[in-house]
Amino acid sequence: MSDRYRRQRAFHQVGEAGQKRLSESRVAICGMGALGAMVSERLCRMGIGSLRLIDRDWVELDNLPRQALYTTHDALELRPKAIASQAHLLAINPDIALEAVVEDITFENAEQWLTGVDCIVDGTDNFETRYLINEVAWKHKIPWVHAGIVGVSGQAMTFFPGKTACFRCLLPDVPPIEQMQTCDSAGVLGAAVGVIASWQAMDVVKTLLQPDTADSQLRVFDLWEGSVRKLRLPAASQCWVCQKGQYDFLTGSAGALARVLCGRGAVQIQSKGRDTIRLEDLAVRLRLEGDVQVNPYLLRFSRPPHSVSVFADGRAIVHGTESPDEARKIYTRWIGG
Ligand SMILES: [Zn+2]
Repeated sequence: MSDRYRRQRAFHQVGEAGQKRLSESRVAICGMGALGAMVSERLCRMGIGSLRLIDRDWVELDNLPRQALYTTHDALELRPKAIASQAHLLAINPDIALEAVVEDITFENAEQWLTGVDCIVDGTDNFETRYLINEVAWKHKIPWVHAGIVGVSGQAMTFFPGKTACFRCLLPDVPPIEQMQTCDSAGVLGAAVGVIASWQAMDVVKTLLQPDTADSQLRVFDLWEGSVRKLRLPAASQCWVCQKGQYDFLTGSAGALARVLCGRGAVQIQSKGRDTIRLEDLAVRLRLEGDVQVNPYLLRFSRPPHSVSVFADGRAIVHGTESPDEARKIYTRWIGG
């Protein structure tokens, strides 16, 4: 066995057998923003055998204060986070398998991308995707590690299907938008991200090494105060997911096709079906109408006061509006119905 993990193997809870187990483990990271990027780096350095890096966005300059894996070059090139992280992680540890997935996780593809792994990491920034992860996890009996952070406060919890409460026990319904504090409206500090991401990575390692030590404690962090509270959370007796086996988000009966990206002045339009868009062809057409920047994954079309970023799968983000109706009109006008 290579010397790379010598000091990790020396830790008695890991040892030779544990390191071998880590090297054979597969983890999907859903969302490669602040938390996901840092968790992926921790797991990559520790020699987790296979990482699936899933993200729908590209790197932007205002990500860099807290999304530790990315560079200014990534932002200037509009590199998708999944692709950029795959390249950086490969340079860190070429011995593990790295799969980049530039997709938005929806009810149509969640089972494709979140299964076939030993653990799922929550790196998302929205509740709908967390409900989807939760339902895939319960349906396929895959443990998942949730975390979230706003400002300097965060929370983390590991869910073990069949053994602990689930995410919907914790939060039965999506909170109304006006009650949600988001990273954009409340800000977030990179140093706080580091603490929660490391905690989350630690939970992944414990889940892989000792899956039978499952417990259902919610940890709530206040990193300004320097405090951690632990709350024991029993399963809710009426929970739709873990008690009734009803998967509303995974069957598409809950969730939306146009989603306002809170605080970003933008709306995401989900494509219907799976039609692939030829971005180069679209670029030729749109260059007659405004500024176009294009790479193999993403096209950005700017025509003030709006801009539209289009991915090859047809998904788009319309900037310059927070109205789903207006965003659909802009999308239909420039990209197509
Ligand atoms: Zn539940």
